[in-house]
Amino acid sequence: MGNIYKLKCENGDYEKSLFLGAGMRYPGFNGSYKAAFCKKCNDFTEIMVNHDKNDEPVGGTKCCGSQEDFVRIDVEDTENEELTCPICGGRILVNTDGSWD
Ligand SMILES: [Zn+2]
Ligand SMILES: [Zn+2]
Repeated sequence: MGNIYKLKCENGDYEKSLFLGAGMRYPGFNGSYKAAFCKKCNDFTEIMVNHDKNDEPVGGTKCCGSQEDFVRIDVEDTENEELTCPICGGRILVNTDGSWD
């Protein structure tokens, strides 16, 4: 089961839900969705990572499949990670918003 994280700009001009965690698990592969920021789309997105390989990204971003133009972010640890709004540069507030599977 994964968690849904809701990203919301403090100025109210941006909002997005990320579906993280719970991904694929089968012999030889143990992966899940992590948050990332796609530089191509200038938007937050998800990527699949392989936990058996030091959380190495598998494939590209969910939004456009890019394997290069993204940076990984940690929405589960917002005390140490400052996220900024892609629209106005304001602070992004993160709340959990239920779970999915
Ligand atoms: Zn993209
Ligand atoms: Zn904003």
